[in-house]
Amino acid sequence: MTISDTAAPTDAALDPREAELLARVPDGLFIGGVWEAGSAAPIEVKDPATGRVIKRIANAQPEDGIRALDAAAAAADAWAATPPRTRAEILRRAFDLLQERRDDFALLMTLEMGKPLAEANGEVTYGGEFLRWFSEEAVRIGGRYGRNPEGTGSMIVSQRPVGPCYLITPWNFPLAMATRKIAPALAAGCTVVVKPAELTPLTTLLFAQLLADAGVPAGVVNIVPTHNAGALSEPIIADPRLRKLSFTGSTPVGRRLLAQAGQNVLRTSMELGGNAPFIVFEDADIEKAVEGAMLAKFRNIGQACTAANRFLVHESVAEEFAARVTERVNALSLGRGTDDGVTIGPLIDDRAVASMSVLIGDAVDRGARILTGGKAPERDGCFFEPTVLIGVQPGSEILREEIFGPVLAISTFATEDEAVAGANETEYGLVGYVFTNDLARGQRMIDRIDTGMMGLNTGLVSNAAAPFGGVKQSGLGREGGAEGIHEYLSTKYTLIPAS
Ligand code: ADP
Repeated sequence: MTISDTAAPTDAALDPREAELLARVPDGLFIGGVWEAGSAAPIEVKDPATGRVIKRIANAQPEDGIRALDAAAAAADAWAATPPRTRAEILRRAFDLLQERRDDFALLMTLEMGKPLAEANGEVTYGGEFLRWFSEEAVRIGGRYGRNPEGTGSMIVSQRPVGPCYLITPWNFPLAMATRKIAPALAAGCTVVVKPAELTPLTTLLFAQLLADAGVPAGVVNIVPTHNAGALSEPIIADPRLRKLSFTGSTPVGRRLLAQAGQNVLRTSMELGGNAPFIVFEDADIEKAVEGAMLAKFRNIGQACTAANRFLVHESVAEEFAARVTERVNALSLGRGTDDGVTIGPLIDDRAVASMSVLIGDAVDRGARILTGGKAPERDGCFFEPTVLIGVQPGSEILREEIFGPVLAISTFATEDEAVAGANETEYGLVGYVFTNDLARGQRMIDRIDTGMMGLNTGLVSNAAAPFGGVKQSGLGREGGAEGIHEYLSTKYTLIPAS
């Protein structure tokens, strides 16, 4: 692979375009429509490609979180009463503004998160689609009306906004994870408090400004970045005014939040970890499988809960698949995401880099072979070489843990039953990828693999119009699709006796 070291050294002046953009990003807390300076030591946001601090922003304290909830609660009735058409048009305006400001959002995500600019642009498109989709859904919130079976009255079933929501987002898709929660909440008529990840809060702050420009009224969306997620979140989740918690992040944190939400009997949506199997049968189109593998493994530098984690390849095609995928990996170009031609950016932090080495070391100790990569390159920043491992043995940590990095780990299987058993041998159940040209086999796999989503002969399934979500320890609820708005609606039934 190519390793570019054209990244700005940590002490060099920022590129003028980057400096101009960063200066325009708000650095406050957004509460009740007002930008506020924080009272505590600021959060330092770093560029993972250089390790350099690119911006200091306000760091919300627990009392700020409660004030954000005060604002969301105060705005709740008026927003719920706003005509669905008006809510839809505001979301549509936000979609349009995002297209106009696309370059700012793409560059900002590359700066704070590290993904290559082309991928950041892809995220603007994907993230924007949630605004468009839910602007369309806002006016289609339906209900039912009918006679009761006894014939003694009419039954009306209607949908109402659940009430103020608390949305916690992760660092890996700074825009799309925010729009995937904020858009359906607003479409449903809910107000929100958003806590972006402390590693990548800038995109959410810029997006808050966009929402205000689009006409979202004060208090409907409040943003509280913080260094102390636990201390800020606990009192919000315990507050009786809160009615819904939506979280995307790791399974251990999700479990803890579910326990807290239980005390307040909150509606919850949980998008947690994944450990996606990627199965290649002997009858698959290998070229298509390699193409799918590159997307499913290396998109976002492997840092996606939908990333393929375990490559299960039929023993008769494993060497061929491995050779072809290695050739493609060797053609990747590692560097700062802003640099031309870069296809693999840095990992999010040093911890992530260290974790790759540990997982690879364990797999190699148990018998795996490194076909390419395998180490952190000699350069500044949180980089790790894209890696291919073959012969990964059962019991290896890398099969159990969510890798969250550019390491493609191949194991082999002999029979379809073995592939299914291997795929399901995990506590997670988010997504599975299957490559086969046998339609009947493909259908059997859809039935037998225990996940919330499947890709048949493709390495990318996410779509704003589709219900995204998992089973088992991968979470609860669905985001996107017709299902997405129902996470923010509660059902009300009314009986009117016949007179
Ligand atoms: P990751 O490993 O991807 O960083 P986390 O689950 O730690 O995943 O983080 C996802 C989001 O959850 C981030 O916004 C983070 O700040 C937040 N978070 C982490 N711990 C807590 C907690 N105890 N309470 C509330 N939010 C938390």
